[in-house]
Amino acid sequence: MTQTEYKIYIDDIVRRVEGARLSVSDYHIVKTVAVSKYSTASDIEKLYNIGQRAFGENKVQDLKAKAKTLEDLPIEWHFIGNLQKNKINNLLDINPALFHALDSLELALEIQKKLVAKDMFLDCLVQINSAKEESKHGLMPEDTIEIYKQIQNDCPNINLKGVMSIGAHSDDKTVVKNSFDTTYKIYKQLSNATICSMGMSGDFELAIECGSNMIRLGSIIFNK
Ligand SMILES: *Cc1c(COP(=O)(O)O)cnc(C)c1O
Repeated sequence: MTQTEYKIYIDDIVRRVEGARLSVSDYHIVKTVAVSKYSTASDIEKLYNIGQRAFGENKVQDLKAKAKTLEDLPIEWHFIGNLQKNKINNLLDINPALFHALDSLELALEIQKKLVAKDMFLDCLVQINSAKEESKHGLMPEDTIEIYKQIQNDCPNINLKGVMSIGAHSDDKTVVKNSFDTTYKIYKQLSNATICSMGMSGDFELAIECGSNMIRLGSIIFNK
């Protein structure tokens, strides 16, 4: 797509996000992370040129390659995928703005070790498998608060900022809403949590209505 076509897409998305966030409150601010995993560095640059600053990738090697190609632009990179232990150092080398998918205490402890060795800190969200789907990663809702506290205690170099969820995989809006409500309820009980990352191309308005303040949009932006 051309930059002008992207502008048309983005303007429409911004209007939809505005409608959803204002239905919550005038003060409810929602941040959009453009998920560029289906796209090239040149697509990202076009979006950057019309004002988008936060981009998300779900594979460490793709994030690394695109961050390198676009290193002259002050892009805010988010890592939204599941992280294997042998990729932690590669991820830390990119120093992402936020890791959305911390899904076990074990992984947190491993990240903590590497952070200490590099004298670094990392902002993270814990991923909650709110609909308890086998195909998804994430903490079980009933375990989340305790594990969150444990990470806060045991991993001083990890700054926990809140939670991330992928909406239930269902055509039934009530089922999807329930999954977002589950995540939001947990988010409200966490101390110092400021980010509730939920909502993708197919369900972002519903997610915002359920309290999300960070949405991750891929296909709807990149037309893929
Ligand atoms: C791919 C992906 C998205 C974006 O999905 P779309 O449906 O294309 O908007 C959001 N979150 C995560 C974790 C993803 O892997």
